[in-house]
Amino acid sequence: MISPWSPTKEQLVELMGDQPRYRADQIWRGLYEQGRPPSELPNIPKKLKTALSTELTPSLLLKAKQENNDTVKWLWQLPDDEQIETVLMHYPKRSTVCVSSQAGCAMGCGFCATGQAGYDRNLTVGEIVEQLVVAREAAKPRRLSNVVFMGMGEPFANYPNVMATIDRLLTDFQIGARHITVSTIGLVPQMLMFAEERLQVGLAVSLHAANNDLRTELVPVNKRHPIEDIVAASQLFRERTGRRVSFEWAMIDGTNDSLNDAAELVKVAKKARAHVNLIPLNPTPGWPTKGSSKGRINAFVQHLHDAGVQATVRSNRGTDIDAACGQLRASQQSVPVTLSPSSPKSQ
Ligand code: SF4
Repeated sequence: MISPWSPTKEQLVELMGDQPRYRADQIWRGLYEQGRPPSELPNIPKKLKTALSTELTPSLLLKAKQENNDTVKWLWQLPDDEQIETVLMHYPKRSTVCVSSQAGCAMGCGFCATGQAGYDRNLTVGEIVEQLVVAREAAKPRRLSNVVFMGMGEPFANYPNVMATIDRLLTDFQIGARHITVSTIGLVPQMLMFAEERLQVGLAVSLHAANNDLRTELVPVNKRHPIEDIVAASQLFRERTGRRVSFEWAMIDGTNDSLNDAAELVKVAKKARAHVNLIPLNPTPGWPTKGSSKGRINAFVQHLHDAGVQATVRSNRGTDIDAACGQLRASQQSVPVTLSPSSPKSQ
């Protein structure tokens, strides 16, 4: 059984055997324009629906949902009982969704709730696309305008399925490349491949430290892909696409938020010609530290600006609803929440 949003259109045609081509077009429109699986489409013959539903069934079952005024977070259960999260952030007229690309993550960053829980598996194309379908529906009357691959998992460790999802975003969701961002911990071989795709899709690198000793402590994969290689890959990305990479920097109190850290970051960001996004760390139960104070963040960003590095402080949304990557799943393992489970289509 696979998600109806997994096959390409050609695969769907093949799956439908000797059905006329226009039936596949109807189903494709139902999936992508209405966000509905074949079983819910009124214009499809019952016999065909029954035949298709033995092969194609939605994958996301709602396990928990938390929301405040501007953020919604879902915890989904997959058919093999893995759990993943999706976060939707509302702005006055539009919304941004943050999707997961893996169940768990193998990168082992200590400060991250997903990293603390370990790796389970890659998500299928359908499991990623279904998150987008649900989010687009839940965003209404706002427009789902932006998509970020910053949820659970390392998107570049699931490169083919993430790229296939980007293709659906560009063609079937009609979201512009510049409104999509892939965030990596710095898997250099895939960064180089991504640069060669020459898309206008944004690339964010979670840097968090600008010297290799501290970065390896925070982000173990830095041992394999040190900062110098990340800078070189960022330069190639800029050459191939004309776009700057953005460096993400979780501000961790007393760890990477001193003026000395800022001075190191200036050097690296200038070499890579990167924009910097500073994010106060969301606290997680498994990491003995907290986010930086406002005062330290302000001094840090001022130092970057004074040195000519463009930097933005991102608002830390949804701390009250466990909105940082992997937190809702972690909290659900210890604190049961009573919610009415339903399939994505009812969202
Ligand atoms: S921060 Fe990203 S790459 Fe690191 S463990 Fe968490 S999900 Fe994985």
